[in-house]
Amino acid sequence: MAKALHANIPVFVPHLACPNDCVFCNQRRISGTAEVIADVYGFLSKAAGELDEKFTSADIAFFGGSFTGIGESEMRRYLSAAKRVMEENPKITGIRLSTRPDYIDENILDILREYGVTAVELGAQSFCDDVLELSKRGHRAEAIEKASRLIKKYGFSLVLQLMTGLPGDSLEKTLFTAKSAAALEPDAVRIYPCVVVKDTCLADMMQAGEYEPLTVDEAVFRAAEMAEIFIEKGIKILRIGLHSSDLVQSDSVLGGGFHPALGEMVISRLYLKEAEKQLSHGNFGQNLIFEVEKGCISKMNGQKRCNILHLEEKYGVKIKISEVPFLDESFRFVKITKSC
Ligand code: SF4
Repeated sequence: MAKALHANIPVFVPHLACPNDCVFCNQRRISGTAEVIADVYGFLSKAAGELDEKFTSADIAFFGGSFTGIGESEMRRYLSAAKRVMEENPKITGIRLSTRPDYIDENILDILREYGVTAVELGAQSFCDDVLELSKRGHRAEAIEKASRLIKKYGFSLVLQLMTGLPGDSLEKTLFTAKSAAALEPDAVRIYPCVVVKDTCLADMMQAGEYEPLTVDEAVFRAAEMAEIFIEKGIKILRIGLHSSDLVQSDSVLGGGFHPALGEMVISRLYLKEAEKQLSHGNFGQNLIFEVEKGCISKMNGQKRCNILHLEEKYGVKIKISEVPFLDESFRFVKITKSC
């Protein structure tokens, strides 16, 4: 049976009047446009009509700025168009948006409910007050907890967007952030290693030697540690790392945890970690078979087979990867057996 495919119809809502000055943000560059869409209904209805046939459902997704901070009349203008398009097009099954924790209250959630919003994504970034302060977020961790509970109480799906590598952050603080986020039981998370984008305060701080960005290796390591916490709790991970398509120009990135294959590198690291765990607990001999689920060979291999080369050298073994339709539930990612 063909797998049901879900799409997002992204609408970038520039928050030109954002009073905040988060050090990492140049939202005009990230969102790709500073243009306000004049005919929201026309834009959405065209995008819905052009949805590729392979998608069986889609959400209208307002991303880019802090949606609930754009002012009530502007918010209603976007939402009423989205609601109309959703009512007219059976493939559109939801409306999602991203915003800041301190732009959530009962009044705002009542408006979102009125227009059939289904999911609210909160830019939480960190649960450490010192990191939030050094990053000039303008809110404390308490605001994230309060907003998250309210969003869940209203019955919206809650997605937390988290960063690692912000000013003042560390591996310990990143793990604290991931655990604190998991404790709020969101429906899903997005994990973003901090990227230094041109024309941001963070770029100035880096150039002045006041901020040291993550290397790609560090970004992969930290994101994998975070991902493991969410996987263990059964919390869906919607995204790891910025995509190239999130950036207007390829030269926008000045440093930090950006790599076009960052998400795959993080998943491969989790496969490696699991394989090491099994290898350290059993005596499998020298010739090993790594069973992975169908389509997961490249995840086990890692980039340029780095996982396998590392394991073969470290444990003095020969590894063959084999695909199986399903892994026994007691195994995560890989099942190691002896070769006959
Ligand atoms: S991250 Fe959001 S709140 Fe912060 S400056 Fe950018 S748009 Fe404003």
